[in-house]
Amino acid sequence: MSLLQRSIMDLKGVGSQLAKKLAQLQITTFQDLLFHLPMRYVDRTRIHPLNTVLVDDPVVIEVEVVKTTVIPKPRRNLSIKVRDADGFAELRFFHFNSAQQTQFQPGTKVRCFGQARLGRTGLQFIHPEYKIIQKDTLVPVEEYLTPIYPATDGVSQKLLRTLVAQVLTVLQPIQNSLDILPAKICAELNFMPLFECLQHLHFPTPDFYKEVLNTGVHPAQRRLAFEELLTQHLSLRQKRQRHMQLMAHQILAPNILGKKLLQNLPFALTTAQQNAIAIIQKDLTNKYPMLRLVQGDVGSGKTLVAVMAALAVIEAGFQVAFMAPTEILAEQHYQNIKKWCEPLGVNVACLTGSLSAKEKSVINTAVKNSEIQLLLGTHALFQETVSFENLALVIIDEQHRFGVAQRLALHNKAHDKHCHQLILTATPIPRTLAMTFYADLDYTVIDELPPGRKPITTLLVGSERRTEVLQRIANLCQQGQQVYWVCTLIEESEVLECTPAEVAYQELQQQMPQLGIALIHGKMPAALKEQTMQEFKQGNIDLLVATTVIEVGVDVPNASLMVIENPERLGLAQLHQLRGRVGRGALQSYCILLYKRPLSAKAAQRLQFLRDSQDGFALAEFDLKLRGPGEVFGTKQSGLANLRIADLMRDKDLMPKVFAVAEILIQEYPNLIPALMQRWLRQLEQYAVV
Ligand code: ADP
Ligand code: MG
Repeated sequence: MSLLQRSIMDLKGVGSQLAKKLAQLQITTFQDLLFHLPMRYVDRTRIHPLNTVLVDDPVVIEVEVVKTTVIPKPRRNLSIKVRDADGFAELRFFHFNSAQQTQFQPGTKVRCFGQARLGRTGLQFIHPEYKIIQKDTLVPVEEYLTPIYPATDGVSQKLLRTLVAQVLTVLQPIQNSLDILPAKICAELNFMPLFECLQHLHFPTPDFYKEVLNTGVHPAQRRLAFEELLTQHLSLRQKRQRHMQLMAHQILAPNILGKKLLQNLPFALTTAQQNAIAIIQKDLTNKYPMLRLVQGDVGSGKTLVAVMAALAVIEAGFQVAFMAPTEILAEQHYQNIKKWCEPLGVNVACLTGSLSAKEKSVINTAVKNSEIQLLLGTHALFQETVSFENLALVIIDEQHRFGVAQRLALHNKAHDKHCHQLILTATPIPRTLAMTFYADLDYTVIDELPPGRKPITTLLVGSERRTEVLQRIANLCQQGQQVYWVCTLIEESEVLECTPAEVAYQELQQQMPQLGIALIHGKMPAALKEQTMQEFKQGNIDLLVATTVIEVGVDVPNASLMVIENPERLGLAQLHQLRGRVGRGALQSYCILLYKRPLSAKAAQRLQFLRDSQDGFALAEFDLKLRGPGEVFGTKQSGLANLRIADLMRDKDLMPKVFAVAEILIQEYPNLIPALMQRWLRQLEQYAVV
């Protein structure tokens, strides 16, 4: 067995108790420990003069006590005024005993480590670590920057450091065997030896500035980030390979139904739609299941693309399930798709929570014996006891709502074969990121909107101008147009200063009694939601007060204005989705972002960006930079969110090289891949790969 695979129990000081705790950190072997990498570093290698201390930066200071006071109110605390040659500061202890009180005599020398904040009297250190030091003795500072590791109860930073040191010593003699990547590739990429990288990261000498380390741009970090990204990519590619070994129904129908549908439509497909449809049709002819993500900005016509795929499958004699993220959207799809499909003799049904048990059972029976060929619904389609006679295609709309991880957990409803899967999303992803995130599936972009769409004019308006906004709404409605009013919170909350939908609804009713106003929110019974949406669609409601339930897909072309209250609470991608509810017809449309002052600089910057751009890609890039991919894509559970050292945004320039090296490994060195996976993939992930 290689030294790397040796159990941590072989280390001095690790018994079965500690081994259990380390296992919680997914550390069981020498290698695990070695690749348990620091999250950040603090500098205890030098003493900071007080006049160089920055707020929130953990630092060591060496000071002399000037005066010690017990402050009785509002909470009893010990305040120690201290100084060094360059300035003053205050140490504060809320928990202290009388020994401590006497310890800090004026003139006493203290070495402290802590984070400063700005108090009323200047720099303050609350509960710093400290040590009294004898005058005129030289107490050494630490030799290395201090790494901060992901840790857990009973596993201290110090313990991790000593264990890592042991492993590094043991491995020193065989250090060259740590490099898995072929020497040729390492040389080409100018990589420093892996052992050296690990030494730097676990025990960085002070000449490596912690600023460099903490921003992740040190060559040692980049080399490891590269290896981690490479491994993640290879793992996704492997998933894909396994997927291609599964069997699916080959769909060889000429899609006459689809052609008929297109003839019946009052518009022509965009080129981008045609391309997407062609690729999907081709996917469906394969023996293995399609797994394709179609990304297209709000309003690009993804539904039609999906229905074209469905018709090919139905023509071949199979069934299709179409999942929407919300009941409102499922219902709306149902209305549209029914109109498209029924003239073709295709039976469509929608299974939502608002149906009675009897209605549900009627649908279930019809699905079971293939009378219904296209079944719509929410994810309940897969939870309830729906059984299809011969399901061959699953369409998932607005996949980002489900989360990337969930797509893999999809139950397989086809009996003997696997279903083709088509995933539609409006969340745009920069190309390299898409290749990173979705290396396990095929990816198509619909990069064109149907012609004749007028750009939406977006305005940033402070809430003090609310009356003007109301005037504008009243005018529009008088002209027969319709308006959305979106609130970003549902319930009354003391903590958040937000206008909840119910309150807004009542106020707006009082302020504009002449208008037909309705409220829709997520907690309403499904039937009532559907009814309200229908009424709005039919034009019986002028102003629809809504929560973000209407975020996705809702299509009412006569709505030409959307007001979003407290837009600063939402991410850019979500705001872009919301805004996409207007501008769907021939009318010039507007979106008013009704924000509350004061707006933070960051929030203002985001909202201005949204005002000035309608390019989903640009917005996504901007959002990604501000919030990071984990937040934006909701990939908390996916492997890519658990990266140890790499950062998808920061290190994205590495990706082209990652793809190239992955290719070389697959072609020339496939036997190296398992070793990389063992090193970088958490055990959990390895098991999750079925
Ligand atoms: P999204 O991509 O946001 O899901 P939809 O599929 O809801 O967009 O389409 C938005 C609207 O555009 C629908 O009313 C749809 O019927 C219409 N549409 C789709 N394709 C075209 C086209 N090629 N030309 C004109 N209108 C189209
Ligand atoms: Mg849609």
